[in-house]
Amino acid sequence: MCSDPTGRSFRESVDRECWSLGGGGILVGPRCITEWTRVVHELALATSLIDAAVGEARAHRGRSITGVRCRIGRLRQVDDQLLREAFEVAKAGTLASHAQLEVVYTPILLECLECGLRTDLEAWRFDCPRCAAVRVRLDGGDEMELASLDVEVDDAD
Ligand SMILES: [Zn+2]
Repeated sequence: MCSDPTGRSFRESVDRECWSLGGGGILVGPRCITEWTRVVHELALATSLIDAAVGEARAHRGRSITGVRCRIGRLRQVDDQLLREAFEVAKAGTLASHAQLEVVYTPILLECLECGLRTDLEAWRFDCPRCAAVRVRLDGGDEMELASLDVEVDDAD
């Protein structure tokens, strides 16, 4: 079933997808399971991001976190909307409960081994956009980094 223990917004986002496919009822099928897996993926990512941010803030005597910036590679296939919803759930009750999320999505670099072209991978096409060769090398795009934080720090008095 599409019900889940993690929070209302997730259930709604999953149910919405299922409804649109089911034509008036909840459809439980492969697509639904895919969506559910995806939600878990984004929630796990958001939770680990919050954990890392809170750990850093504590190490710097932070009182609260107001901004979280991260870099995520395109190869991770993160759904931005789901990540933002997951972030809202994951940050509740933590030092980051008022934090804004900023995400920079970093490209996957495609290098053609025939003509030497180096370019950002577009639309999951794995041939060279200049010479159509299929001997290509992919680089990057798998980043998942906490880039920086805005932290309010306790005065040392
Ligand atoms: Zn080429």
